[in-house]
Amino acid sequence: MDTPNVKDLIIASGFKFNKALGQNFVTDKNLLNAIVDDAHVTDADTVVEIGTGAGTLTRAIAQKAKQVISFEVDKNLAPVLDLSLKGLENVTVVFKDVLKMSGDEFEKYVSVPFKVVANLPYYVTTPMIMRFLESDLPVTSITVMVQKEVADRLVAKEGTKDYAAITLGVRMRGEARVTRTVSRQLFYPQPNVDSAVVNIKIDKNKLPDTDLKKLSSLVKCAFSMRRKMLTNNLMSGYSISREEAVEILKKADIESTVRGEALSLDDFVRILKVMEG
Ligand code: SAM
Repeated sequence: MDTPNVKDLIIASGFKFNKALGQNFVTDKNLLNAIVDDAHVTDADTVVEIGTGAGTLTRAIAQKAKQVISFEVDKNLAPVLDLSLKGLENVTVVFKDVLKMSGDEFEKYVSVPFKVVANLPYYVTTPMIMRFLESDLPVTSITVMVQKEVADRLVAKEGTKDYAAITLGVRMRGEARVTRTVSRQLFYPQPNVDSAVVNIKIDKNKLPDTDLKKLSSLVKCAFSMRRKMLTNNLMSGYSISREEAVEILKKADIESTVRGEALSLDDFVRILKVMEG
């Protein structure tokens, strides 16, 4: 069976969209194949999909991957998926909320290294990406279609308006790049925003001598009051005096008047090293 027409399937099964779950499905076959290409899926890969939806991306992945384990929170999609995934033997759909699953529970379904591929619901983008990046799960890459604005944040350069804590949260564990931008017209129903596909190549050992939890806390502190100087954020975040904060920055070779949003990942790593003595 070819990629089914999503609209026909949905009408035939009487499915009602749940806007609150970010249900904007992809209807364009070229785009579905392009996302799978951007994820570099091969027949040796186990792919985890988040949000099966009507199963169109699932089918495109299944045609390239060894196996697909696709998680979907909305059980009402079961009749649609019975039709759209018919005949695919390398697909398992699991009706669970990915954000509510522990690592142990997740490993019951996926126990080998895997790639994540997803057209993510907009409201869970950041927690979903960080859920995989911060876990001990053997995830090697994440390829996600997200709101264009979020994609801009994931790949932002320091000092730009899009540069945020999430930029560094990703950068400390891998390399992100935007592989394509996607018009809202390619979704059904159509959302109010355009999207982009982001590929994150993961290297959880990128900073082997750095405690990533502490680094994340430092970054969050630096961005907590974005327009304030880093000195002030360090003082309130770590309950230290101005002199101590200035001294830390001086030792890390950073101007005391700088804002956190101007600093690179390397700068934050240096500051953390000084703070740890
Ligand atoms: N993959 C499909 C596609 O590309 O057409 C559907 C994408 S749609 C943007 C996102 C899907 O994720 C919806 O079907 C929604 O029900 C599901 N979803 C939302 N939150 C979820 C969660 N926490 N865990 C699993 N699935 C979720």
